[in-house]
Amino acid sequence: PEISLTQLFNQSVEKFRNHTAITFFNKRYTYGELDSLVKRAASGLKKLGVEKGDRVALMLPNCPQYPISYFASLMCGATIVQINPMYKSSELLHVLNDSQAKVLIVLDQLLPIAESILDDTPVSITIDVSFESGCKFNQLLQDPGDDVPSTKINPKEDVAVLQYTGGTTGRSKGAMLTHYNLVANTLQSSATSQVKTRPGEERVLTISPLFHVYGMTSGMNLTFYNGGNLILVPKFEVEQVVNIIEQTKPTVFPGVPTMYIALLQYYKTKKFDLSCLNTCISGSAPLPVQVLNLFNKVSGSTVAEGYGLSEAAPVTHRNPISGLQKPGSIGIPIPNTDARIVDIGTGEHTLPIGEVGELIIKGPQIMKGYLGMPEETAQAIRNGWLYTGDLAKMDDDGFFYIVGRKKEMILASGFNVYPIEVEDVIYSHPKVLEAAVIGVPDEYRGETVKAVVVLKENETLEENELISFCRERLAAYKVPSIISFVDELPKTAVGKILKRKLQEHYSKS
Ligand code: ATP
Repeated sequence: PEISLTQLFNQSVEKFRNHTAITFFNKRYTYGELDSLVKRAASGLKKLGVEKGDRVALMLPNCPQYPISYFASLMCGATIVQINPMYKSSELLHVLNDSQAKVLIVLDQLLPIAESILDDTPVSITIDVSFESGCKFNQLLQDPGDDVPSTKINPKEDVAVLQYTGGTTGRSKGAMLTHYNLVANTLQSSATSQVKTRPGEERVLTISPLFHVYGMTSGMNLTFYNGGNLILVPKFEVEQVVNIIEQTKPTVFPGVPTMYIALLQYYKTKKFDLSCLNTCISGSAPLPVQVLNLFNKVSGSTVAEGYGLSEAAPVTHRNPISGLQKPGSIGIPIPNTDARIVDIGTGEHTLPIGEVGELIIKGPQIMKGYLGMPEETAQAIRNGWLYTGDLAKMDDDGFFYIVGRKKEMILASGFNVYPIEVEDVIYSHPKVLEAAVIGVPDEYRGETVKAVVVLKENETLEENELISFCRERLAAYKVPSIISFVDELPKTAVGKILKRKLQEHYSKS
C-alpha cells in the first residue's frame, strides 16, 4: 500500500503498545515508550528547524537512539543519510557533501572525526549521542513533545533513506530509497518470513548494522512491522554476542556469513545453547554450504539464505522458510518481484535455464535512482529493470544461484572462472576457516586464479596440499595456481570480504 514508513510504524505502535520493541543490554523499551521518545525527538528536531526535504545523517552503531532518530527525522519529512561509523574523515566528507546533509546525529566518540571536516560541509546542526551522561540527544528527548510534525509524505516520490552503496567495488553512490520502496520491501520480506507467523512474539537478534540496508530492513523495519522485539547489539564480538544470546534467547537471527563462521568457531571451543533460534537468515554475501549445514546441525534451526542489494531496499530473493530449500542457492524471488538472467554483453536477451548471465530485477523495491548521478542511474535501471552487476543462473525449479560479481569474474586463459565455485570447494576443506578467490595478472594466462585463505586455529596446511584438494574437485582451469595463507581477511563493516583490497594488494606484489 502507498503509505509512509512512519505510518507503518504508527500502525505497529497501535497494535503492540505494551510489547517490548527494543532490548539493548539491560534496557527495554515497549512500543508505547519508543513511540513517546520518537515524538519528543521529532518535536525537538522540528523546533531546531528540521523540515521536509532536509537530510539528517546518522552516524551511530546499533543502539536505541538509532530507531528514535530514524523515525523522528522521517516524521519531520526529512531523508535519512546512512553513515558507516567506521568511516574515516575523507569518506565522511564525501557523503555529507554529496547528500547535502543539514543535521548530523553522531556518537560522541566519533565527534572528533566529524569535527575535523564539518566546516567543509553543509551540516549546520550537530547532535551528539552519549551513553554516559549529558548530550544534545538527551536534551532532544527532554522536549515535551508538544509540536510533533504532521508532514505530508508522498510515498512514491519522497526519499526516506539515502543508502550509500557499500563501496565493495568502487566509489560510494547514494541509492535513493523512497518510502514506497522501503514499505514495499518490509511487506514483501514479511510475507515470506517467520516473524509474521507469530506477531508480537519473535525476538530478533540484530547485530547486522542498521546503517546498512540489510540490518535496516531485515532487522529493524521487519521486526517493528510484526511487533517483534529488536535485540540491538552494537558490535560483533563473539563472546559478548554469545552472552547476549544466552540472556535474551533470540528466536530469529538475520546474520551474515562471517557471523555464522565466527559463532561456529567459538562453539568448537565452548559449547553454548542455540536451541532458542528457530529461523536464521543469511544475506549480504555468499554463505558457504558447509557453514550452513553445520550451523543447522548445531542450532537445530534452519538457515535460509537470501539475497539483496542497496538499490533494492534490499531483499529480492530468499529460500522459503518452509518448503523446498536449496543450500547454495539464494532462493526464489520474493512476492511481487520479477527476476531474469540476461546476456552479459548487451543485457537484452534472456538466457536459457542453467546459463550464467547478469541478474536483473523488477519490483516495487527498486530505488528511484542514484542521487545526482543520472548517467549511472540510466545504466543501472533500464526499462524498469535493475541491473545488479551480479552473475547468476537459474535452475529448473526457479531457484537462483549467485556465481560472483561481474567485476570479479576471472578470465583465466580465456575461460570464465566464478570465484564462489572455487571458494565453496576450499571451504569444504576441514582445516579452512575463510577463503577468498581473486584473479591476479598473469603473463601467460592473462589472469590466474589466486586464493587467500585463513586456516582454523592451530591448523597447518601446505599450499600444494590445498591445490591438490582443489584439483580433485574442479576443472583444471579453475584450480588456484597460487595460495596465500593469512591470519585475517580485510572486511567491510558488515563483514563482507573486501576483495578490492586483496586485488590491489596482490596485483602489486
Ligand atoms: P558496492 O555497491 O560498492 O559494490 P556492496 O556491493 O557491498 O558495495 P551492497 O548493496 O551492500 O553493496 O551489497 C549488495 C551485493 O552483495 C550484491 O550485489 C551481491 O554482490 C552481494 N550479495 C548479497 N547477498 C548475497 C548472497 N546471498 N550471495 C552472494 N552475494 C550476495
